[in-house]
Amino acid sequence: MEPVQSELRKWMQQNKDFQANYRQIREDVLNDPEIKAFLERHPQLTQSTINKNLIRLYEYKTQSKQCDRCQSFGGCINMVQGYSPVLRVENGDIRLLYEKCYNRIDYEKQKEQQNLIQSLYMPKDILNASIADIEHDSERGNSIRELLLFLENAQSELPSQGIYFYGPFGVGKTYLLGALANALKEHHVSSTLIYMPEFVREMKNSIKDDSINEKMNYFKTADVLMLDDIGAETQSAWFRDEILGSILQYRMMENLPVFFTSNYSMAQLEEQLALTNRGGSEMVKAGRILERVKQVSREVSLSGENRRDG
Ligand code: ADP
Ligand code: MG
Repeated sequence: MEPVQSELRKWMQQNKDFQANYRQIREDVLNDPEIKAFLERHPQLTQSTINKNLIRLYEYKTQSKQCDRCQSFGGCINMVQGYSPVLRVENGDIRLLYEKCYNRIDYEKQKEQQNLIQSLYMPKDILNASIADIEHDSERGNSIRELLLFLENAQSELPSQGIYFYGPFGVGKTYLLGALANALKEHHVSSTLIYMPEFVREMKNSIKDDSINEKMNYFKTADVLMLDDIGAETQSAWFRDEILGSILQYRMMENLPVFFTSNYSMAQLEEQLALTNRGGSEMVKAGRILERVKQVSREVSLSGENRRDG
């Protein structure tokens, strides 16, 4: 009899642990703020349905929701990499679904972009830029207000005008665009940021292969287009009229915003665009481009210290 009794005692002991464990898990699950909110939204769910689905609710609780606990796409902590859990009620029962995380969606989009356009490279500090890091800077007050306004409006509908940031070298113009791109990403709006000198080079190189139309299309229709350092590129009449002009024309007609950074004010940029490699001045053509720049963006000046020195 001895072995049976000790087995029985062991079983009862384990069972007690199990029950205590179960109660603890149940309490943890029901105290989870998101699960609480979910259950409040669905008062029709009975205790027995909740008990039956405890493991599901527990799984939901342990997973990162839309990357809230993950560092990056590569650092996803979820059971299914790049997927985020969602609770639903169907036919009186609880269902646990997994949806793509925005980091995954963004990763896939970027992959797609990288396959098409080689020069969409962002330096690391710009890639990690965040609006929270720039908020307390008084000299940038106006630019940040404009940026936040755009962001707020973008949550209901993408505004038809972006911002043209101009100011001296190193004040953080490109950084602002990076921070905006990251904030927009959280609202599922993708941005395409390209450095103008690279842009010209890329487009010139793709005349040889057949990718130029596909690339043009891509820049015309991107949600938010960000042209970094306009005016710093080698001036070419072809690029100005056939590429830049037609992308801006399209976006103007379709009410799609464009952001710019530049060392030049809009008036100075017009003069810059008038000087082409053909020699001579082409004020009329430059003026036509400027009209479109003004349609798709608002001019905002940015001053302050040169951050590259510090
Ligand atoms: P610009 O485009 O105006 O020439 P950048 O945006 O490249 O200037 O900024 C210059 C440097 O300062 C970069 O290394 C950038 O990461 C850094 N920087 C700019 N603004 C900030 C900020 N608000 N917080 C932290 N670093 C910043
Ligand atoms: Mg810059």
